[in-house]
Amino acid sequence: MKTRMNELVEMLNRYADEYYRLDNPSLSDSDYDKLYRELVELETAHPELILPNSPTHRVGGKILDGFEKYTHTYPLYSLQDAFSFEELQAFDERIRKEFPQVTYICELKIDGLSISLTYEAGHLTIGATRGDGSVGENITENLKRVKDIPLSLTEPLNVTVRGECYMPKASFERVNLERQEKGEAEFANPRNAAAGTLRQLDTAIVASRGLASFLYQEASPTDAASQAQVLVELNKLGFCTNHDYVLASSIVEVWEFIEQIAAKRNDLPYEIDGIVIKVNDLAIQEELGFTVKAPRWAIAYKFPAEEKEAEILSVDWTVGRTGVVTPTANLTPVQLAGTTVSRATLHNVDYIAEKDIRIGDTVIVYKAGDIIPAVLRVVEEKREHQEKMPIPTQCPSCTSSLIHYEDEVALRCINPHCPSQMMNRLEHFASRDAMNIAGLGTSIVEKLFQANLVKDVADIYRLSVEDILQLEGFKEKSADKLYQAIQASKENSAEKLLFGLGIRHVGNKASKILLEKFGNVEKVAKANAEEIAQIEGLGQVIAKSLATYFGSQDTQELLLELKATGVNLAYTGQVAVENGKLSGMTVVLTGKLERLKRSEAKEKLESLGAKVVGSVSKKTNLVIAGSDAGSKLAKAQELGIEVKDEVWLESL
Ligand code: NAD
Repeated sequence: MKTRMNELVEMLNRYADEYYRLDNPSLSDSDYDKLYRELVELETAHPELILPNSPTHRVGGKILDGFEKYTHTYPLYSLQDAFSFEELQAFDERIRKEFPQVTYICELKIDGLSISLTYEAGHLTIGATRGDGSVGENITENLKRVKDIPLSLTEPLNVTVRGECYMPKASFERVNLERQEKGEAEFANPRNAAAGTLRQLDTAIVASRGLASFLYQEASPTDAASQAQVLVELNKLGFCTNHDYVLASSIVEVWEFIEQIAAKRNDLPYEIDGIVIKVNDLAIQEELGFTVKAPRWAIAYKFPAEEKEAEILSVDWTVGRTGVVTPTANLTPVQLAGTTVSRATLHNVDYIAEKDIRIGDTVIVYKAGDIIPAVLRVVEEKREHQEKMPIPTQCPSCTSSLIHYEDEVALRCINPHCPSQMMNRLEHFASRDAMNIAGLGTSIVEKLFQANLVKDVADIYRLSVEDILQLEGFKEKSADKLYQAIQASKENSAEKLLFGLGIRHVGNKASKILLEKFGNVEKVAKANAEEIAQIEGLGQVIAKSLATYFGSQDTQELLLELKATGVNLAYTGQVAVENGKLSGMTVVLTGKLERLKRSEAKEKLESLGAKVVGSVSKKTNLVIAGSDAGSKLAKAQELGIEVKDEVWLESL
């Protein structure tokens, strides 16, 4: 019991971190909610075993580096949730016992992220994220770029308001199409897209993404008597409020509204994930108060994940970089949550066995408004004479025998020389969060591998321009570009390398923590497992995995080879930008900038690969001049150096 609770807390905290801080969830919301519920049940039965770091006692996630922290004057909360009519009834009974005449207001639960806006004398002074409820990130400059957030109100008031910033479906589709064309990873859903956008350091990108907002709460004291009045007041002050709300005097009326909205949910121009039911009377709200995590006067009804029937046509088995063999079903195409779905994950062999999924079966496919669709269950009534699913015994890539460890749900190929694993490892090594070698994607890795030019990650650094030229499709210029990108990656701060090595359980966050602590990869390799296990954010599992990885002779040799090829093994806290539009250029900023802060302009230049220096010399390639630029501009003109303005910089 205790072990399961520990496990759930560790898992849920890890998923919450991916979701809130990294905007990169690896689990669907409904799967997360199921684990969360399991923990709540165990904690209710055994309150003496509740762990201090349990997610049931905390709001949201940790906050990101890169933005200033902002301590909220009025804390932000989460919402208790309900998944059925019965749960809403229980909520209603609890409240009605004390307040028999209670009226509810039902609002759409917008699937974006919580924001808090503070106005002084009617001017926007602070815009912040929820963070852990007490401390969030100051993202004022980014929120100013959200078009419908008023910079000044219709009255010169001091107020703090709360609401949701979201990405409309149309913006989401456009942004993802642009990312697809640029070969960048697409956002999993509009919520992640909105969260990722608001954490951009480049405000011009925020402006281009087309975010929007709905405000619904006055956090500072208000004269309004009800939540419905708050919405009207907010609207008068110049905020966007959502008009799709109703007042309900019974829980049956609440349910009618839920059904009505559920039916038109897909037609709304933005994503919603449920309905928020609040006590309308603010005086009653005050009397009911809050738990550590959520108000007692509100509950969020969450829509069930969307489900459809489809037929399994065939199954593909693929080998990932750690040797795990994953089954994916090819389906008759179905429309699900607004997209056409023709593939769904079957997770692993244990899942197939447990659900007895067979080729030719009609199955229920679901998508919880996010991530990869999955197969929920077989529709037994529609089964005819399908045979049991054939489970591969040999690796689909290298034909070596597959292993099914007792304590694992997956099949594994344990041949370290399996081509599929090797290629996936190389691809991971070159990926953006790892060594970020632009141009070294799936197809080039495959070609290099098949041409016997690259077998392990150190080989990448032994490639010459001539080697690359042997590959089909490369010309002098493109080969040189890839070569330069490879060379530039040698300078990366070493957390990128550590992550790129693909050590089990060691993600980019753990890599950064390790490098910050030990300073270089060789010291991480020699570090004591117990010491690693004690570091906040790491723990036993990571410590053990590192010990196994660095304990191997192959790894020791690989590190020596990487070092010999000139790859940086030290933490420098910086990431080399290769192939940026301004790579190799020395740039000077001068004069007064109107649209960007100087630090923003500098950050943007650096993110494009430029080196920003303070004075103009013959070595300067470019000057960005604002208004009232003085002697530096004169000198640049005298030396014939190119001069551009901030509008040009923003357009890059
Ligand atoms: P929540 O998102 O379920 O509900 C609280 C939030 O609802 C508020 O903070 C507010 O931002 C928002 N909201 C939208 N419209 C609103 C309205 N009209 N009135 C009031 N609030 C409104 O709670 P949470 O604590 O932010 O997140 C928990 C949920 O996040 C989980 O239930 C899960 O679905 C998801 N989650 C998923 C993962 C994952 O790995 N997939 C990890 C962590 C959390």
